[in-house]
Amino acid sequence: MGTATLHIDLDAIVANWKALAAKSAPGVDTAAVVKADAYGLGAGHVARALYRAGCTQFFVAYPEEAATLRETIGQNPQINVFSGHMAGDTDMISDLNLVPMLNSIEQMTRHFEALPDQPFGVQLDSGMNRLGLEPSEWTAARDIVMAQGPKLLMSHLACADEPDSPSNARQLAQFVEMTEGLGVPRSLSATGGILLGSDYHFDVTRPGIGLYGGLPFGDAQSVVRLSVPVVQTRDVAAGEFVGYGRAFTAETPTRIATIAAGYADGLIRAIGGSAVAFAGEVPCPLAGRVSMDLITVDITHLDDTPTHLDLLCEAQSVDDLAASADTIGYEILTSLGARYTRRYGNA
Ligand SMILES: *Cc1c(COP(=O)(O)O)cnc(C)c1O
Repeated sequence: MGTATLHIDLDAIVANWKALAAKSAPGVDTAAVVKADAYGLGAGHVARALYRAGCTQFFVAYPEEAATLRETIGQNPQINVFSGHMAGDTDMISDLNLVPMLNSIEQMTRHFEALPDQPFGVQLDSGMNRLGLEPSEWTAARDIVMAQGPKLLMSHLACADEPDSPSNARQLAQFVEMTEGLGVPRSLSATGGILLGSDYHFDVTRPGIGLYGGLPFGDAQSVVRLSVPVVQTRDVAAGEFVGYGRAFTAETPTRIATIAAGYADGLIRAIGGSAVAFAGEVPCPLAGRVSMDLITVDITHLDDTPTHLDLLCEAQSVDDLAASADTIGYEILTSLGARYTRRYGNA
């Protein structure tokens, strides 16, 4: 087996979804965000597992992302689209029976003219200034929009992963002011917002990263294990270098394992500085630069030559790997490449 294997634990994803759902009151509906192919882990597999576990509402970024979802989970679950109703989306929204989160007056006009009977939601901008209607636009449009019967009013928090940020309470107050008393289900919180407490939960929560084992859900079960085969080992004498740019020089006799994954697989070059690979429980430092398809690892301290080294595992989460590259777990997860053999089951 030449390629690395990405083990994806669907039971852990379901357990994380249940754990996040348990943080809200019983009446709150916990949806699942499966955009970007479920953060790179396979939207079809993930959505099927969550649907079987009782999840009935899903969010994607674009209508195209809903096509495989409909095939795997059927017609019943509600699939909401964050990007709303863009030009060219009409047929897909109608054929796949999607619920666009309308973001602007332009999108509303398009939707009400093209698909007057198709359910929709509204995304409101409570301060992030990325998507959604501004408070003044909402004030002007609200009566007309309410007459069309929106299924959901939503907004998104900019700093939910920083519990002490004053932005959270400000956005909450703005959202309440825009939506209070309208009698329409509301949604404000992704993973971070769920952890901010029940004031932030409203009727529907929308976790993504927490399902997949990432921060800010620190209590999440580990979901992925990335196991990379050793292609070759060699003994390097003191003074010899390893890899591009001579970035590693052996100070003493060193045993190097070359493993079969690289930056083309989402293991970005920046992890080279401080990430490690694991032989079971034993950490082994990376030696030199990450190449496109290969990584060199110092295994001098191991008694036996391993067949595989793990780059993601219980001991090194996506957030640990991200920290070594000065990025976030979201970026590591969504970058994991198409070359891996994917195994679904227990990680
Ligand atoms: C991606 C996204 C989510 C999920 O966020 P997580 O931080 O991954 O839980 C929820 N809502 C919106 C609008 C998003 O774009």
